[in-house]
Formats: sequence, structure tokens, C-alpha cells
Amino acid sequence: MALDFINKFFKWGYGPNNGPSSWGKFFPIAESGCRQSPIDVIDSETQEDSNLQPVDTSYGPGEEYKLENTGASWQLHLWPKDTRLIGGPLRGTFHGFQMHAHWGSEPGFGSEHTLNGHAFDAEIHIVHYNSKYPNPGEAIDKPDGLAVLGILVKTGREHPHFNVIAKSLKNVHDSGSTHILEENFDPSLLLPQNRNYYTYPGSLTTPPLFESVTWILFCTPIELSPAQIQEMRKLTTGCAHEKCLVNNFRPPTQLKGRTIRKFKQ
Ligand SMILES: [Zn+2]
Repeated sequence: MALDFINKFFKWGYGPNNGPSSWGKFFPIAESGCRQSPIDVIDSETQEDSNLQPVDTSYGPGEEYKLENTGASWQLHLWPKDTRLIGGPLRGTFHGFQMHAHWGSEPGFGSEHTLNGHAFDAEIHIVHYNSKYPNPGEAIDKPDGLAVLGILVKTGREHPHFNVIAKSLKNVHDSGSTHILEENFDPSLLLPQNRNYYTYPGSLTTPPLFESVTWILFCTPIELSPAQIQEMRKLTTGCAHEKCLVNNFRPPTQLKGRTIRKFKQ
């Protein structure tokens, strides 16, 4: 089935009738796939790999940063040609094109990846495509097409740089609305100070769940204040029965024999 045909009849989301447990009906790879995401990372079962490199990012000056409520998350559009992700487990250069987040309705859950069975309060994803492809659209379904930096979030101190986004979320309450950030935003400033990471081959965590993502999940969470996370919970999906955009996370999927490698400095 063509994707636009599916989208007409099945508007996926996170509600009781269109949430992750129903995605497999229209996207069979949800169950049959062999490299789905997210996963539960059990630290003692990961393999430290001395061949892995540190992650090296630069996101450039950008121009106007557009923030959007997609109905499934907030999303910040990046300026791909100004950006560069190299190192880590990656071959070649990747360009960042968007970032977004997943969160819960209250503290205690909300992240997609879990660590030793423990869920965090939110998870931020910075999505990059492989520069061997001309654009994200060409890369999105290729096995080596995408690389996502995953940043786990726990409730704690205010993050000064995240305020650039937190302050602007009130301007994109409604699904489909957009807002140009008043200040420049540097995604690098959201990465944890400790750059140790886990990496494994996985997928998009939203339909169409393409198995195209090299995941780089930082081991150490960052902190956002209760007020900063609350700004995310005030967004709406635009659906009358699912007004608040919360609990927009897919639960962990099966590892299916994959090795999770760990970079430790
Ligand atoms: Zn995501």
C-alpha cells in the first residue's frame, strides 16, 4: 500500500485507537522488523568498543529557525547545509535537518529508550541524514540513511539554552502552527557534558517506522526544569478526543539479537 493511501485511512497517533500497539496493522514492520526502535538498553549487556569515535557536531549559525507543532511533537527545523555530524559509529558526514521530543503527561515516563528498564521524563531527538544522499527524503528509507542523537531528559534544574524553545512553545499550541524563533538556537548546547553513548542499528520510532536509523543514545541524561517540561505538555494534537499532546512515545521494542555497542571515554 502506498503511504499516502494509508495516511488517508489511518491517522496514527498516541491515542487508544491509533497508538503504537495499533501501528502494526498498517505498518507490519512494527512487528516483523528486525531493527525496530526504541529499545531498553541493559548496560551490562552492551559491548564497549574501542573502535568507536567521539561524536563531533556543529550546527552553524542557521538563519531563521522555524518551530512547528506537528500534532505528534514540537519540531525545530534545522539548516542542513550548515550542519555536520561526524564520528561516533558513523562513516562519512551527516547533516541535521530537524529536532523534536517525546514526553509523558507527568514525571516518571515519557522517554522512548529506557536504561536498565528505567524510563526518563522526556527524550530529545536530533535527526540527521547521510550526505551521500541528496536530501532527507531520499535517505529516510535507506539502511544507512539517518543518524539520530538521542538525549534523555530528567526533571531537575532549568536548562538556560532550552529556554529559547520553551519560551516559544506557547506560540505553537495548536497542531500545524509554526513560529520563527526570536533567538538563534544551537542544538549542540543540549548535549550532555559527558559524551559517552550507546549505539545500535534501529528505526524511526513513528510510522512509517523505516529501519534506517543509526542510533546514538547518550548515556547521561540532561536536566530540564518542571516548568520547561510543562510547556511541552501544554501543546495540543488538534484532535478533539486527544487534546493534550502528551505521552507521545513508543514503548521499547524487541532487541532481536542486536548488539548495542558502548563508547566510553
Ligand atoms: Zn523522535
